[in-house]
Amino acid sequence: MQTEKKDIRALTKEQLRDFFVAQGDKAFRGNQVYEWLWNKGAHSFEDMTNIAKVTRNLLEEHFVINHIKVDQMQRSADGTVKNAVRLHDDLVVESVLIPTETRTTACVSSQVGCSLDCNFCATARLKRMRNLNPDEIYDQVVAIDNESRLYYDRPLSNIVFMGMGEPLMNYNNVLKAIDKITSPEGLGMSPKRITVSTSGVPKMIKKLADDEVKFKLAVSLHSAIDEVRSGIMPFSAKFPLKDLRESLEYWYSKTKSRITYEYVVWKGINDRKEDIDALVKFCKYVPSKVNLIEYNPIDDGEFQQANPEAIDNYIKALEQNGIVVVVRRSRGKDIDAACGQLANKNEAV
Ligand code: SAH
Repeated sequence: MQTEKKDIRALTKEQLRDFFVAQGDKAFRGNQVYEWLWNKGAHSFEDMTNIAKVTRNLLEEHFVINHIKVDQMQRSADGTVKNAVRLHDDLVVESVLIPTETRTTACVSSQVGCSLDCNFCATARLKRMRNLNPDEIYDQVVAIDNESRLYYDRPLSNIVFMGMGEPLMNYNNVLKAIDKITSPEGLGMSPKRITVSTSGVPKMIKKLADDEVKFKLAVSLHSAIDEVRSGIMPFSAKFPLKDLRESLEYWYSKTKSRITYEYVVWKGINDRKEDIDALVKFCKYVPSKVNLIEYNPIDDGEFQQANPEAIDNYIKALEQNGIVVVVRRSRGKDIDAACGQLANKNEAV
């Protein structure tokens, strides 16, 4: 019976060693193959020239080597680069390179589409097709790192999980990818330079704390009033703010790592004084800072960026209360690469 071949890059080094032992070979063979896959970037078993032919055939029988393919690369007038990344099963995700004076940041996807239903986000309109595997996440980072070296003459400095999907709904694979990114055998990046952004799944935030992760956490808050938040992020009706708060307190007690709240201010939705007061109050529960994100219109105008005065009122109130607030201008808008715009627009899916 023909069983489906496994993606060999989904295996840890330990699992590869075990495979060879189970086949009556030496565990060391696992190290050699692992090195081919990860350090030498082999795209086929044929490439593995110091591995005996019979062993390569054995691998061929059991496994495939999947690699992503950057199908299309677009460059924005502001230097932002967007990759349309084709996966082995022909699905497509997007990742973005965001250069500033001092940093180059990769914004990567964790799922094909998204299972959440934030009304203001283009990705939410694509239903969730599947989770990305660890190697598919890792490969997006490597592709952006290469582009950063090519176009900006410097390696990638930061990674944000703010592309397509909800990273905490693909928990294990995201953590495996981060392990690889931070390990000396992968890219050796510091976890402090990695931010995982979640729309706020309390149970999984607690799990992150229990797993003692070392990367940073961002939460897409957008409102600190339950009725407003569940009006624009319907899934959040299941996760009331009191549960979110409790999970964030737990996160901080375990990690001592400050949380970033992402927040867009929309006209007529969350631009009132009571919205501001609620945010200020929420920010006091756990050490945190606020990123005010510019809204990137995705459609017909149900959502509109609030007036500058409303944004100023937010900034004043937060600063008066000693809360750090940063206004994030959109990047890559002209190529639909900004927050919430990733939706495979150029794909005929
Ligand atoms: N699912 C995760 C990862 C996505 S991050 C999360 O929700 O955090 C993308 C960020 O951009 C989130 O803060 C999201 O709320 C925000 N966003 C979504 N659509 C947007 C839009 N149209 N304009 C500006 N920000 C948007």
